[in-house]
Amino acid sequence: MIPYGKQTIEEDDIAAVVEVLKGDWLTCGPAVERFEQALANYCGAKHAIAVANGTAALHVAMLAAGIKAGDRVLTSANTFLASANCAEFVGATADFADIDPRTYNVTTETLEAAWKPDVKAVIPVDFAGQPCDMPAIAGLARSRGAAIIEDASHAIGSQFQHDGRWYKVGSHPWADMTTFSFHPVKTITTGEGGAILTNDDRLAERCRLFRSHGMVRGETTDCRPQTADHKLQDEALGLSSCSLLDERGPWFYEMHEVGFNYRITDIQCALGLAQLNKLDRFIQRRAEIVAQYNAAFADLSFVFCPHLPALHPSSFTLHSSLIAWHLYVLQIDFAILGKPRAQVITELRELGVGTQVHYIPVHLQPYYRERQACTDSKCPNAEKYYAKCLSLPLYPAMTAGEIQIIIESVRAVVKCPKEKM
Ligand SMILES: *Cc1c(COP(=O)(O)O)cnc(C)c1O
Repeated sequence: MIPYGKQTIEEDDIAAVVEVLKGDWLTCGPAVERFEQALANYCGAKHAIAVANGTAALHVAMLAAGIKAGDRVLTSANTFLASANCAEFVGATADFADIDPRTYNVTTETLEAAWKPDVKAVIPVDFAGQPCDMPAIAGLARSRGAAIIEDASHAIGSQFQHDGRWYKVGSHPWADMTTFSFHPVKTITTGEGGAILTNDDRLAERCRLFRSHGMVRGETTDCRPQTADHKLQDEALGLSSCSLLDERGPWFYEMHEVGFNYRITDIQCALGLAQLNKLDRFIQRRAEIVAQYNAAFADLSFVFCPHLPALHPSSFTLHSSLIAWHLYVLQIDFAILGKPRAQVITELRELGVGTQVHYIPVHLQPYYRERQACTDSKCPNAEKYYAKCLSLPLYPAMTAGEIQIIIESVRAVVKCPKEKM
């Protein structure tokens, strides 16, 4: 059975993990900092903060941005649950914007249509690896005072062009923070893992704070009004004096915010470092497979292949070779085909081909339906897209033989009676 996604682990990945296991640090050690530095360098960002998983990265980003009860956070209807749930984690309300029917991403138009006065953050999701139109989205969000957290769980390594220059996901100036996931089906993996990237020193500091219990060590903190005298600092915060804490020294730690244990281990980061070295090769291989699929399915009349970014409006031109494809999603008109999706999935499985559905529109989940009285037509494009989507296997370790099996199986199962195999 060929799965829809799978990690690619090679000998040097294994050796890197074994080396950490033989060393002194399993967590909070040098591999974490090395991974963060390598990640920041790869993306061209000033800071990378590695955390336990991509969901934790989104939660930490919400906390760092100061999102709280009474705030509303707009994300894509076409995403994994975590892009919305992170708003609920901090007591805010997750709300949903529709997608563009070609890119499957939110746009300024869909965000604007969903906008309410209490929106304090937007979380655009770079679906399947294709970056959102971040310059335009940032223009809208910033003019309305909302923070921008780009959920780039699918898009590590993707780039886009704006005004004749290329920008990388993770470092361009149109997101305050960008999050990644290193779950095994994502482009590179640490087993479980995630990261927040930012160019902003204060946000980076706050991410580190919330990653580890809201705790700072040493005599002063970078996250609060500072004076040389901690008593004056306490006074500035309106705290009554506490003489037992007058004694300061190397052991000292202090907590100003409720944080979490969202740390990642050195074991995971060693794997991440080894994987990061292969990222460009992985992206290249994924792009080749996408091109092969697109060519193989172009003539199927019920099938719509992933949107080719060259068709973007000229104000936002992308080059397809610079999309780090995470998913390959076909849109299939199951109604005209005369076979329900479940049957197509079963027939493909019988031929050894695993598939997946990305995603059930999040606003249709019972939790959100109950709270927001979301109806079937809140995000019609995401709903229409969902009715037709099917993700085919896509990962670098796929062999030429496996790709051939997938292509032949799809052509056999999803063909109109007149079409040839
Ligand atoms: C995978 C994913 C996440 C969550 O990442 P985890 O590492 O699984 O916690 C969040 N958003 C999107 C779009 C994802 O695909």
